[in-house]
Amino acid sequence: MILSYKKYMQIKLYNTLTHKKEEFLPIKENCVNIYSCGPTVYSYAHIGNYRSYIFMDNLRRMCKYNGYELKHVMNITDVGHLTSDADTGEDKMEKAAKKEGKDPYEIAEFYTKAFMEDLEALNIDKPEIITKATDNIKEMIQMVKEIIDNGYGYETSKGIYFDVSKLDKYPILSNNDLSGEDHGARIEVDPEKRNPYDFAIWIKAPENHLMKWDSPWGKSYPGWHIECSAMGRKYLGENFDIHTGGVDHIPIHHENEIAQCKGSFGHNPANVWMHCEFLLVNGGKMSKSLGNVYRLKDLQEQGIEPLAYKLFCYSSHYRNKLNFTFEGVKSFQVALNRLREGYLKHLEVKENVENVEIVNQKVIEFENRFHEAINDDLNMPVAMGVVWEIIRNDIKSKEFAKLLEKIDEVLGLDLKNSQKYMQKEIQIPQEIQELIEKRNKAKTEKNWKIADKIRDEIKEKGYNIKDTKEGTELEKI
Ligand code: AMP
Ligand code: ZN
Repeated sequence: MILSYKKYMQIKLYNTLTHKKEEFLPIKENCVNIYSCGPTVYSYAHIGNYRSYIFMDNLRRMCKYNGYELKHVMNITDVGHLTSDADTGEDKMEKAAKKEGKDPYEIAEFYTKAFMEDLEALNIDKPEIITKATDNIKEMIQMVKEIIDNGYGYETSKGIYFDVSKLDKYPILSNNDLSGEDHGARIEVDPEKRNPYDFAIWIKAPENHLMKWDSPWGKSYPGWHIECSAMGRKYLGENFDIHTGGVDHIPIHHENEIAQCKGSFGHNPANVWMHCEFLLVNGGKMSKSLGNVYRLKDLQEQGIEPLAYKLFCYSSHYRNKLNFTFEGVKSFQVALNRLREGYLKHLEVKENVENVEIVNQKVIEFENRFHEAINDDLNMPVAMGVVWEIIRNDIKSKEFAKLLEKIDEVLGLDLKNSQKYMQKEIQIPQEIQELIEKRNKAKTEKNWKIADKIRDEIKEKGYNIKDTKEGTELEKI
């Protein structure tokens, strides 16, 4: 008896562009269009990166919870992201290929696969469209041409640059005032550039460069920023709802994406720009270049499931920094187990008819509060507070279990399979292990009487045994 799921409730999102929380209404009535900057696949993604993708997942799931369909695009950057986010340094893909003695396409394929496996382990829903930069070169060249034709681009010996002085305002996302900057201190000043903050949209390839394409400007390759502008436009059009990324994207990558769209088709492409704050280690950013990164695998080696890391991320709002320690995340493994136990207690209870009215009322109240929290700029800490109240509620009821399953469409913690996860938690005593082996042998020999006898013996010792397609499952009574 759950009444209020499809009820309309206002969504508010913080927009980096306007620096405030605003009511969100999609351009199309029923569908939300989102573009998310995806990974640069030159090495394994780390748990800091995954904080951003967990945020992306919450956004998707919140939109769906509110009844919207989704058209969500995420790119895979497999060329053009230089070692500095601006236009200096080597292409990260080329550098990795040379270091590993492999082809850059092989590198991209390997790390893309690893990334997808991690998304799966984190139960992150995949965007409807996942597209590689190298599959969209034609659209990028077209956009560069338009930028030049419209008077925003110019050629130097290194590539095509965007002339930021032609814009009405630059930057517009960050509050940086560039006029008084000591440009030499922040960026390398290239004498061929018209303005210090002009940036490369297309890069001429040196002789030994591996990833390059024919273009009106010779053998060359795209700049990182033009990739996202062109892919967003190709798949979502020139005006879509939401663009996401990490806070590090604000001052350069996203600023430049907006500039390019203005130079090409005249306006900023996304109504709302959303950014996830950093995961920190010892107060500093977790980042590959600082060498302080951990992967999901490192957590798993310490008995921490990817889903426990996901739950840990919910302890902080996506716009706040979050400090990582192994101890901190371990406590969320304990919390995840409690969450599963709590869900199962509701699921497995024998209903008491006297409580039906109270339960129904509570279900509505809890659902409303959860819904309000997620619609309030994805306030996961508050939403989790409601979840814990449901778990700890004195009255146990299947209706609460159903509500938790519904809520889990946003949390993505795979609560429905709690029993399976808890099973893995059981430390099977040696004596029971031996009885199971004996029973398996009896089963193979089709000695059913003995097999049943052993099953009873195991039950007397406090375990229920279940035969499934995957093998024998054990449950503590
Ligand atoms: P990259 O593969 O380096 O392009 O980064 C992929 C995504 O991870 C981007 O959205 C970054 O903003 C984000 N990111 C990188 N480091 C962190 C961090 N320490 N915490 C949160 N997000 C991060
Ligand atoms: Zn991007």
